Formats: sequence, structure tokens, C-alpha cells
Amino acid sequence: MKVLVINAGSSSLKYQLIDMDTRGVMAKGQCERIGISGSRLKQTGKSELVVEQPMKNHADAIKLVLSALTDPEHGVIADMSEISAVGHRVVHGGEYFSSAVIIDDEVKKAIEDCVDLAPLHNPANLIGIEACETAMPGVPMVAVFDTAFHQTMPPEAYLYAIPYELYEKYKIRKYGFHGTSHYYVSRRAAEILGKPVEDLKIVTMHLGNGASVTAIKDGKSIDTSMGFTPLAGVIMGTRSGLIDPAIIPFLMEKEHMTMQEVNDMLNKKSGVLGISGVSSDFRDVEKAAAEGNKRAQLAQDMFVYSVKRYIGLYASIMGGLDVVVFTAGVGENNAAMRVELVRGMEFMGIEIDEEKNKVRGEERVVSKDSSKVKLVVVPTNEELTIALETEKLLG
Ligand code: AMP
Repeated sequence: MKVLVINAGSSSLKYQLIDMDTRGVMAKGQCERIGISGSRLKQTGKSELVVEQPMKNHADAIKLVLSALTDPEHGVIADMSEISAVGHRVVHGGEYFSSAVIIDDEVKKAIEDCVDLAPLHNPANLIGIEACETAMPGVPMVAVFDTAFHQTMPPEAYLYAIPYELYEKYKIRKYGFHGTSHYYVSRRAAEILGKPVEDLKIVTMHLGNGASVTAIKDGKSIDTSMGFTPLAGVIMGTRSGLIDPAIIPFLMEKEHMTMQEVNDMLNKKSGVLGISGVSSDFRDVEKAAAEGNKRAQLAQDMFVYSVKRYIGLYASIMGGLDVVVFTAGVGENNAAMRVELVRGMEFMGIEIDEEKNKVRGEERVVSKDSSKVKLVVVPTNEELTIALETEKLLG
């Protein structure tokens, strides 16, 4: 069985064709600048293919993806009929979806109902689904939601202490994101440790440009750091994470900022970029700090502080801790950051092995043998998870 995984953004579309027998990626690529000048498809797999031609919409992009995958020279399949199913990443499933689903009209209506909750992402995801339906009639499609894994959180974790009627009226609550990643890395970590995931108390740290931390007990997400939107929780590349909400009206008044301007500032100009003034990329910030840039050092220290406290917070909520998992760009690659994130936590039974920790982008247990809490690096693989969920649903 071959599954095409689609991640549609507002002007881009990423894809992977996965062979489920080997779990290997046959080809992957990206269409950029859809609907604007300079549209371009780039695919790797058998050999690199770059196509520069106008794509006026996502339907054009999907047609181009299918012709790239079946290209006689650079393609990896003879024709489209080899694709058994399509798995779509959908950002927001609201309270409708606690697992992946086969897409039908009702599912599309529910995704549309969640547009208010993810105005940048859900419309693009829907356009991607509809473009595939047109280009690949009869091929079953599955939606895999970033929010679904966190639907097991209890109300005391997901409700905000604002008038309850606002939850009822607008569904304002914590949803959490990166669910596909937290799900995948928790399962892989349990497999690596040779224990059932249901028997472990796990903190998963997805630390990339966007970052979130999740508490997983009995295999289920019971709390996560992102909230109503992916702005909440830990400090990120350009996002503020948790701030006192009273800062918002204060700024609007003092700086004569509009709501949109404040929102932009918190999402795009804050976090590690806002503090360091250097970059949102940890590699640049690390380099600047090493060269003596004090604000770059401060940005790193603040990031560590904001992430590290979740270990204690979630251990207290779970009544213990067995495993901490590191994933995504920073979690997988930045060994020094992993050391800082668990520094001084021997009192909780957390002991990192600095030799084993010298690893990038590879699955490995990086705690000392004597460490009560196991520390595991697991490169995330959201596309494979989407493909596996698609295969599971379609048998
Ligand atoms: P992501 O959003 O998961 O792609 O992660 C992006 C972040 O990961 C950036 O801040 C990068 O600095 C960091 N990152 C990615 N690759 C590496 C690497 N090889 N070494 C150190 N940091 C990395």
C-alpha cells in the first residue's frame, strides 16, 4: 500500500509518498508560492526534480504533484492508481475529533466549523482536501488532526477560568497542538525502552521553531503547554508563549497599537527573536551568545527556564515521572540545550549522560544507566504517523 501524505498551507503544499510495506519515503516535495508569481515544485526521491510553472491554486498544485510522482524520468510510480489513499494533516479538529477519520461531507463541514479556531490553517487544509478529491476521484482520504491526541485532557486542564458561558458559546478552551508528534514520539520512546506506553509517565518535549510540552499518562495526553492557539506555553522562535494577558490592553493603550498589531507582535516578533534581537533560529542565537552577545544568552536562558519548569509541573500532575522525550529541531539536534533542560534535576532522579547525549537526529537513550527517569531522543515523524493512521483506518 502506498499512501500520499499532504500538508497544505495557505500558499504551499508539502507532500510525501510513503510505501507502507517498508515504511520508507519514496518521494517527498513541496509546492511553493501557490497563487502568486514564481510558483515552484521541488521533489526529491529517485532524483531531484524542480518545476517552475504557474500554479493558480491548490488544484493546479496537486495536478503537478501527481505528474511529478509519475514523471517517467524523476517519478517513483508508474501511474496514479498506485496511490491507495491520501492522509491529510489538519491543524484543528476542535472538540469534534479525538482521532483520525475518513473524510466525508460531514467531516469537511466539521473542519469548516473549526475555521474560527485556526483561521490561517484550516481553510488551507480544506482546500488541499478538495483539490485531492477533484484530482483523485474515488481515492479514500483520511484527516489526521494536530489537536486530536489532546482531546483526552480533563476539564480542569483544558478550561480557562473565564466565565463558563464563553466556553459554551465559543468553545474557548485549551486544545493543544503538535498532537501527532507527541503521540508518535511517546510510542517510539516506549518501544525503545521495551515497556508498554500505558505503564509510563512521560513528558514529551517538541522543541522546534514552534514548541510544546505534553504530559502523557496511561498513554493519553493529560495536559499540554499550548492552548486555545499555538501561541501559548513555552517561549518559541518568534512566539511569546505565556504572558500576563493584562500586557495586551496596556500596550494597546500606551503604544496605540491595534489588536492585530499586538497579535502580530506576540506571534512574529517575540520569543527568542524578540529577546535576542538576533534571530528566531537557535543556531544563530547560540553562535551570537558564544561570541558574547548578552541578549542572545538571555534568550537561551529564558527558553530553558520556560521549558524546564514543565518537567516539575507535569511530574506533580502525573504523580511521578518515568521518561522525558526530546524531539523536533532543537530537541533532536541541540545536545547542549538538552543538558541545560535537565541541569540540577538529580533530586528528581534525572541524570543525563553527557557522552551518550552527543547525538543529533538519532533515536537514543541519553540518560545514565543509574537514572531513574529515562531521557530519550526521538526524531519526530509526523508524516509517517499520518500514513500509519490512514492505513489503520482503511485496513
Ligand atoms: P523545527 O521547527 O523542528 O524545524 O526546528 C527549528 C529549530 O531547530 C531552529 O531553531 C534550529 O536552530 C533548530 N535546529 C534545526 N536543526 C538543527 C541542528 N542540526 N543543530 C542545532 N539546531 C538545529
